[in-house]
Amino acid sequence: MASLPENLAGIQQRIQAACDRSGRPAGSVKLLAVSKSQPPDSIEQAAQCGLALFGENKVQEARHKIALSPGRLRWHFIGHLQTNKVREAVELFEMIQTVDSLPLALEIQKRCQQAAKIMPVLLEINVAGESSKHGYAPARLLSELKDLAGLDRLQIQGVMAIPPFNPSPEQARPHFRQLRNLRDQAEQVLGFGLPHLSMGMSGDFEVAIEEGSTLVRLGTALFGQRQSFSPRDH
Ligand SMILES: *Cc1c(COP(=O)(O)O)cnc(C)c1O
Repeated sequence: MASLPENLAGIQQRIQAACDRSGRPAGSVKLLAVSKSQPPDSIEQAAQCGLALFGENKVQEARHKIALSPGRLRWHFIGHLQTNKVREAVELFEMIQTVDSLPLALEIQKRCQQAAKIMPVLLEINVAGESSKHGYAPARLLSELKDLAGLDRLQIQGVMAIPPFNPSPEQARPHFRQLRNLRDQAEQVLGFGLPHLSMGMSGDFEVAIEEGSTLVRLGTALFGQRQSFSPRDH
C-alpha cells in the first residue's frame, strides 16, 4: 500500500486537476483529513506532511486524540452530534459541520454563551432523503433557516452532505449540484453569503470539486482503510 505522503501527493494533483478542469483557482478547495478510527500516529504523520485540518465524528474519540496531537492542528466535527455532547464539542472543535435540527442548534447556542464563544457551523442536508442518514430535508431547512440565523452564537458558513453511496462517482453529481442550488437558495433567504460547500469524499471528490465543493473530506484516500468503522454505517 502507498504511504501517506504518496497518497497526499496524488490527492493534491487530483484536486489541482479538478480545479483546472472547472476553471477554479487553486486554493479554492480545502482538504479536511478525516482521521476517525485512525491512531494518533497517523495524525502525527499527516501533520508532518503539512496537513492542519482534521475531521472526527465521535466526541469521545476526538477528545483522546486531540489531547495527543500537535496543538496547532484544527478540528472539525463531522459526525452526528447528540445534545449531551455539545458542551464538549464546543470546546474541542473549531467548526461543527453537522447541524441538523433546531434543538441541536439551540443547545450549541446555549453552550457557546456559557463558554463565551462563537461557533462556525455548517448545516447538514440529507440530499437523497435516506432514512438511514441524518440531516435536514431541503424544504425543512429553508423553513427553519430564519430561526437558525437568529442564534447569534452560531455563525452559519455553509452546507454539507453525504450523498448515497455509489461506486460510480458520476452518480453523486446530481446530489452535489442539488446541494449547491440549495446553498444558493439559502443565501437568498438569509441575505448573506454561505461560502462553504462541504462535499466530496474519497470516492467522489473530483466530481464534487467540479460542482463547486470548497471542502473535501478525505479519509481512506489519505490514510488507507479504516479498522472497523464505515461512514455509511450510520
Ligand atoms: C468517514 C467520513 C468521511 C471520509 O470518508 P472516506 O470515504 O474514507 O474519504 C467524510 N465525511 C464524513 C461525514 C465521514 O463520516
